[in-house]
Amino acid sequence: MSSPVTAAMLYDLIACPHRVAMDLFGDPGKRDPADPFVELLWKRGVLYEHQIMEGLRIPFLDLSSYSGDEKERQTLEAMHRGEPLIYSGRIQADGLLGEPDLLRKEGDGYSAGDIKSGAGMEGSGDLSKPKKHYAVQLALYMDILERKGMSVRRTGFIWDINGQEVVYDLAELYGRRNPRTLWQDYQEYLAEAQAVVTRRSETRAAFSSVCKLCHWYTACLSQLTAADDLTLIPELGRARRDAMIGSVATVRDFAASDPAQFLAGSKTIFPGIGSPMLEKLHARARLIAIGKDARPYFREPVALPTANLELFFDIEVDPFRDVCYLHGFVERHGGSNETERFVFFFAEEPTAEAEREAFADAWRYIQNSQPCTIYYYSKYERTIYRKLREKYPDVCSVEELEAMFDPAHAVDLYFDVVLKATEWPTPDFSIKTLAGYLGFAWRDVHPSGAASIEWFHRWIETGDPAIRQRILDYNEDDCRATRVLRDALSGLPVMTGSGNSSV
Ligand code: SF4
Repeated sequence: MSSPVTAAMLYDLIACPHRVAMDLFGDPGKRDPADPFVELLWKRGVLYEHQIMEGLRIPFLDLSSYSGDEKERQTLEAMHRGEPLIYSGRIQADGLLGEPDLLRKEGDGYSAGDIKSGAGMEGSGDLSKPKKHYAVQLALYMDILERKGMSVRRTGFIWDINGQEVVYDLAELYGRRNPRTLWQDYQEYLAEAQAVVTRRSETRAAFSSVCKLCHWYTACLSQLTAADDLTLIPELGRARRDAMIGSVATVRDFAASDPAQFLAGSKTIFPGIGSPMLEKLHARARLIAIGKDARPYFREPVALPTANLELFFDIEVDPFRDVCYLHGFVERHGGSNETERFVFFFAEEPTAEAEREAFADAWRYIQNSQPCTIYYYSKYERTIYRKLREKYPDVCSVEELEAMFDPAHAVDLYFDVVLKATEWPTPDFSIKTLAGYLGFAWRDVHPSGAASIEWFHRWIETGDPAIRQRILDYNEDDCRATRVLRDALSGLPVMTGSGNSSV
């Protein structure tokens, strides 16, 4: 008998269908230990749920001490009695199993909800929309209730980190331009999950950013490498791989092919892949297929500013506490690495006062360093600085902040240089991957932004100076990696479409 489809499965399925299959049928011996950041996420979720329930001023039936069949029996009985609010129940029907945090009596039936330590919607203002991975879980609960004749309408709810109830109307159309509903999405994901649990469909690993925190990372990466999978080409991804795989299966085959064979008029034969994208992916395949002698290059020349003083800048943010806790800079004078110095501004506590002080100090340092060129990697630094400025408007004005990020002397090496104009023989363009490719090694054995957040949490809990130093070393190495990349970019050749090169 196959496993029931659970809400957690649907949540995972949205990130990666292969993870659902691996969790069910993969060799447990090949599983990586749980990533500490993932554990932190889980712990914070549980903690937040407890806080909410402990602070609730309305009566509720608590079934959290029960498990398995007994929990299910208690839940059913409670619903038949008409309990107004049930915490931590368990419901099941037709191969679907749900453990909603909340079941609330509404009219003649029940509505289901979850307590989440994240925002109830994604995006902000008019652009905010329901989170699909929350919606599918709520839809599964509502589906079970409907099959049991205990639902009145297809609506669930989230109690979110901001203390708000966010209603998910699963039957509502996305909009006039997109006349679909979350319920339709759910049914498609459910069908996919059912095919996975009953082994009617085979899933494939696909390299993506979510892999790095996944407990199957080592197993999948080795399988993808052995298979020379197309997702090892940057930006190709699962959907494009699945569109292409019937015609070309490996990086080497793709590299050896003539992309013209995949064209039909001005379009490609692959749904969702335009002709310019196919050309770009093909060039990447050719570069990767060269192997160890492959060298990165510029597709088009990009002039980088020059200045006597350069600042290589990186910040660390705790999204759970909504605190920017570290502003790190490696400064260099006259292009000489001998002059390098790490300067940092650290919020010693996760408080608004400490965050403001670190921001104000970093801002003063940047102002005192003018004129200089600032290098950072991704729009994140600018986005967070804009948020910090809004939070602490006494530190600097909008005009001053925008002037600081003027591209004439502040360069986002990721979006404005690497992504826009270069090619690398690597599976992605993260700073870790590119600096690692260039021979740079982080002092930490597990360097990542997610790990830094987890260390920050432990530093707050323990005050251990070794953890604080680990955070600083990691940030310093990120800044230095940005410098390594900046210097390497100066030496890359420019390869035009015709294959001509110039430096
Ligand atoms: S490592 Fe990546 S492909 Fe493999 S199961 Fe995890 S998310 Fe999916």
